[in-house]
Amino acid sequence: MFMRMRRKRNLDARIEKCGELLVHDPAQYKGRWRELFGMAGELHLEIGCGKGDFVLESARRYPDVMFVAVERYRNVLLLAMEKVQAAGVNNVLFLDVDAATLGDVFGADEVDRIYLNFSDPWPPKKRHKRRLTHENFLRVYDDFLKPGGEVWQKTDNQGLFEFSLVSFSRFGYTFREVSLDLHATDFDNIMTEYERGFVEQGLKIYRLVARKPKQSE
Ligand code: SAH
Repeated sequence: MFMRMRRKRNLDARIEKCGELLVHDPAQYKGRWRELFGMAGELHLEIGCGKGDFVLESARRYPDVMFVAVERYRNVLLLAMEKVQAAGVNNVLFLDVDAATLGDVFGADEVDRIYLNFSDPWPPKKRHKRRLTHENFLRVYDDFLKPGGEVWQKTDNQGLFEFSLVSFSRFGYTFREVSLDLHATDFDNIMTEYERGFVEQGLKIYRLVARKPKQSE
């Protein structure tokens, strides 16, 4: 018990040191994220950012894009925030919330792109509702993804990939990219922590880009 409390206090102290990188009560910024960043331009959301390699490298490469990275486990989120803080990039903010709540956080058409990198596959059928590409989640994202906006997904898991293809397709999204072996293409890929591990094991990486139709389509 004592150890656990000390660990928790440690975690809180380290999170505190990351200052304003972690957004508290994010619902207050609904519809006003560009104001909060003090930037204009595209807003990209990564759901399940893990230890943050992907969002950090993305933010470095695309300094005009605003990135919001979501991770529900604070002990993991902390590592991502510390990396971003050490790198001194100023176009990333973090949320410690569950993806299911994001409808309260972003306003209509506020998000240009969503990244889902190596989301938990939740294999048993009775757990499919937890998959971040389940229709229930697509409905949440659809409320804030702008028309013509995209979801970029990568996974090593064939079951999740097939499920996602069906789910997006039924939802009326179209595919701009589908790759069954991302690393065999010339795509300018940004690796995640999980991806590095899977590639080392010789696993193939699947990738899709699903596009939300414009009103006129
Ligand atoms: N994207 C990272 C981590 C992949 S593991 C990488 O590729 O290396 C999937 C991550 O998503 C985990 O850290 C998990 O905590 C997070 N996650 C899963 N479901 C989530 C949800 N509903 N809301 C927020 N984060 C979630």
